[in-house]
Amino acid sequence: MQLTDRVKNCNGCSACVVGCKYVCVKMEERPDETSRKLQPVVNENGCNKCNACVLFCPLFNPVELPEFEKYYEFTEEYEGRDMPHIYRQTMRSVRAGQQTEFVGTLCEIAALKSLLGDKTFPNLIYKPLYCSDEKRAKEACCMECPFYGKEQD
Ligand code: SF4
Ligand code: SF4
Ligand code: SF4
Repeated sequence: MQLTDRVKNCNGCSACVVGCKYVCVKMEERPDETSRKLQPVVNENGCNKCNACVLFCPLFNPVELPEFEKYYEFTEEYEGRDMPHIYRQTMRSVRAGQQTEFVGTLCEIAALKSLLGDKTFPNLIYKPLYCSDEKRAKEACCMECPFYGKEQD
């Protein structure tokens, strides 16, 4: 079964890609242009139905987000980033005890937090981004986003 059948309004955060240790989840472009451009696709031949992908999904298995006092502008450099690569790099750095900064929208912060076992690390600083107004207006996942609104002061 595909993740998008199980997760309503998947926002393309890509936590499931990193959560699958069998490398069975890939992000692919959506066939329709009505929502986020990427969606997870499970290789059902390699999948052993361990369920980890869905358990790491912060929409399926919610995590507690910290309260943030300051948000940063969402600029072009944050469009189309390779999030699985960034999550892996960040997790390695955090677990190695290095001072680490992660910049992302709240859905990306929730994804990273879920992948890190929903724990708080003193050496991990989050820099939350405001969401893109354009995405908010046209993408179903953003319109229904459980994280949006927490950032408005
Ligand atoms: S059920 Fe397990 S093996 Fe299958 S895609 Fe999800 S994490 Fe990967
Ligand atoms: S982890 Fe993110 S990309 Fe994967 S199903 Fe959940 S919301 Fe979608
Ligand atoms: S509104 Fe923002 S936090 Fe919510 S899914 Fe869209 S980009 Fe992510």
